[in-house]
Amino acid sequence: MMKPNQNDEMFKLRKSPNGVEYLYIPMFDDTGLVRTFFTTRKGGISEGDFDSLNFGKYTEDHMLNVVENRKRLFSALSIEKPIMVFPRQVHGDAVACLMAKDIEGQENVTIEDTDAVITNIRHVILTTVHADCLVVYLLDPVNKSIGLVHAGWRGTQKNISAKTVDLMIQKLGAKRENIIAVIGPGLDGCCFEVGPEVYEQFMTSLDCIEEFVSRNKNDKYLIDLKGLNTKQLKNAGVNQVYMTNYCTSCSPELFFSHRRDKGRTGRMGAGISLL
Ligand SMILES: [Zn+2]
Repeated sequence: MMKPNQNDEMFKLRKSPNGVEYLYIPMFDDTGLVRTFFTTRKGGISEGDFDSLNFGKYTEDHMLNVVENRKRLFSALSIEKPIMVFPRQVHGDAVACLMAKDIEGQENVTIEDTDAVITNIRHVILTTVHADCLVVYLLDPVNKSIGLVHAGWRGTQKNISAKTVDLMIQKLGAKRENIIAVIGPGLDGCCFEVGPEVYEQFMTSLDCIEEFVSRNKNDKYLIDLKGLNTKQLKNAGVNQVYMTNYCTSCSPELFFSHRRDKGRTGRMGAGISLL
């Protein structure tokens, strides 16, 4: 089932002079505090299934293409002396807090076994990589701290979005009432079909699942991960939660989709940085 309307209020498309086209969150960027991005597949140099802005290193694409694609995106963002942070995502629930000592003298930081990152340091670009799994952007505009979450179904099952909010409060002094959350493009309820095994795993770990599941005619289940993450964030005391309408599988011209493309595909990059 394709969604008829892929217009979106929450994310806007920016066409950079170097050809890179990426989405950003006006609600965040217009504060002047941060720059956000979610790459589309346009403006890179990769070919074939990875055409063209493949952001993911762990694909069958040539590594040098990915390096060049990332370089183009980061240059399009024009953030002064950026420090790029890449968690090595494992569909877990570990959240890393980046402090000044962790990044001293570095341009690229990789954090092992981590699916979410938070910081209050300027010019640090928190980055995650996606091909269907949700991204959640977090901003406390008052105390100026940020977070970025890779929330696929396993992360959602482990309540990773709420855990990231909790760590922003604990470590960075953010306040629940100030935090704004934006859920980005991912596999939406229209396309996230699972069999009984996955459904049952959800059932045993989450009590609010019923609201976000519908059964389809193939006797499978459609899960609304955006709805689930919204609920988890609200349960964590975040009242300002917004989401995009974009479904990665429904927009082949804009996005790679692991499920739609049957595994052989590129990745989008998501990111946020304090200016
Ligand atoms: Zn869809």
